[in-house]
Amino acid sequence: MSKTKPLYNRLALIGVGLIGSSIARAARAQGAVGSIVATARSETTRKRVAELGLADQVVETAAAAVEGADLVIVCIPVGACGPVAAEIGPHLAPGATVSDVGSVKGSVVRDMAPHLPKTIHFVPAHPVAGTEYSGPDAGFAELFVNRWCILTPPEGQDPAAVEKLAAFWRLIGANVETMAPDHHDLVLAVTSHLPHLIAYTIVGTADELEAVTRSEVLKFSAGGFRDFTRIAASDPTMWRDVFLHNKDAVLEMLGRFNEDVSALTKAIRKGDGDALFDHFTRTRAIRKGIVQIGQDSPAPDFGRAHEDLPHEPLPKPYES
Ligand code: NAP
Repeated sequence: MSKTKPLYNRLALIGVGLIGSSIARAARAQGAVGSIVATARSETTRKRVAELGLADQVVETAAAAVEGADLVIVCIPVGACGPVAAEIGPHLAPGATVSDVGSVKGSVVRDMAPHLPKTIHFVPAHPVAGTEYSGPDAGFAELFVNRWCILTPPEGQDPAAVEKLAAFWRLIGANVETMAPDHHDLVLAVTSHLPHLIAYTIVGTADELEAVTRSEVLKFSAGGFRDFTRIAASDPTMWRDVFLHNKDAVLEMLGRFNEDVSALTKAIRKGDGDALFDHFTRTRAIRKGIVQIGQDSPAPDFGRAHEDLPHEPLPKPYES
């Protein structure tokens, strides 16, 4: 039963993976839309979406999905957004809002806008929320709760349409902020894209070592490595597209990162404990700040459960 009057009559979801299926689940749970029509590239995913009952209707093409929809959200890798915009452009209903969820915004605006008619509202978005899992089974309705969703409307968009999409995201739990697309890409380069690149690098480095075996890396991973492996398990297609489409901002941040690694390398080589201590004190304060503004739990070790102490008696000769 709807908790509220729907904001939109008909939501078309193009792509139903982690993000698309989470939007479907949340929008339905909150009564944010009257009905949901969904499509995905492969028949396997379309079939699974139907089995999971994520949409009222599952159709074969993006063009068919957008017919009569007043909200269209494209939930596919950023590199595929241009061709999909070209496909849906001629079929969009006048007055509809077209959005996306891509992790890069400048390229999405450049690739999609030329294909969209002037009669629609184009309000790209990026929910800064996710997990390392993919596909329609991976989504959950609470994914966006207390996470930020950044809207990057190109200049000249109708403020009422932007505000209505913001209300949609708030209804499914997100906090909303509006930004210019290029600024979004710079911010996310440091908060998301660079950390992923570092995780992909370090996990690859550990895997290629000769003096330390792979089984040792896995066995002793609780020393810090395993927290990088969660990020490095993220979807390869999505992340390939992020780096190809946010090239300039990532290269800028990577340059700064390399300078900082060089400074820490020098401190270690020179035995400069003060420099290391000062740096680590500053970074600890950043973690504290993230917890204070509610973007992570204060529970130690990310809230991981610890197993009970052993109950087995000690073997001879230690047992009492
Ligand atoms: P996902 O679980 O892998 O799902 C991707 C969806 O896109 C699937 O329905 C897939 O269809 C479809 N797709 C893949 N390649 C396509 C192509 N070339 N043309 C048309 N459709 C295609 O991915 P996701 O995690 O939901 O990510 C979707 C978008 O959200 C990406 O742009 C990503 O940058 C953004 N995002 C992701 C996260 C995250 O943490 N994962 C967070 C915020 C934003 P099939 O299943 O039929 O192949």
